[in-house]
Amino acid sequence: MKNVIRNLLDWIYKRRCYCCSSSKESLPICSKCYSELDFNSPMVDRIIAGVNVYIAGSYDKNMQKIIRGIKYHNKKELAYYQAKFMYEYFKMLDINKQFQVVPVPLHQDRQRKRKYNHMELVAKEFCEMTGFIPNFELIKRIKNTKPQYKLSRVERMNNLNKAFIIDLSKYVNLPILLFDDICTSGATFESLILELNKNNIKNITCFATTSPNF
Ligand SMILES: [Zn+2]
Repeated sequence: MKNVIRNLLDWIYKRRCYCCSSSKESLPICSKCYSELDFNSPMVDRIIAGVNVYIAGSYDKNMQKIIRGIKYHNKKELAYYQAKFMYEYFKMLDINKQFQVVPVPLHQDRQRKRKYNHMELVAKEFCEMTGFIPNFELIKRIKNTKPQYKLSRVERMNNLNKAFIIDLSKYVNLPILLFDDICTSGATFESLILELNKNNIKNITCFATTSPNF
């Protein structure tokens, strides 16, 4: 009986918006919750190691839910909404370039545990919208780093030291769009940029969904 009730609740819950759980639209994210997402101004947010970093919008309640839903709760259907948000922001930038989109890679142990790299899902959707080329093979994470959020800036850089390797055989001759969900200190982007630079790859732009304000 318990299972029947749980299944019924699952069924009802799945048909409701993941953010407000109340919309009757039968969409993973209802139009009201999506429209409440808050875009940043279309401009460079910061420069890391000489590279422009763009951040699509605020780290507000709904955005946090979407990101956590994809990342930790297997809500793959939310990737479309995160990608759409990033796409709508990116269009405002008016950058008329073709890119290869390179999401920040997970270590294979973590990817195995999570079954997928959430940012690959978002990148796939984003590439369908933009016509950009996804490239999931160029960079590999060879060190299973600790979560960054508890570490100081110096600890973050040490944690990421020698974390990535580049497979040049997978390089496509297009500018790179490094692609991540949350950019906090920027240490992950920095470490990736430095590694790409070491391999003589210089034409890089960084793009994250959001950045928490501390
Ligand atoms: Zn909603």
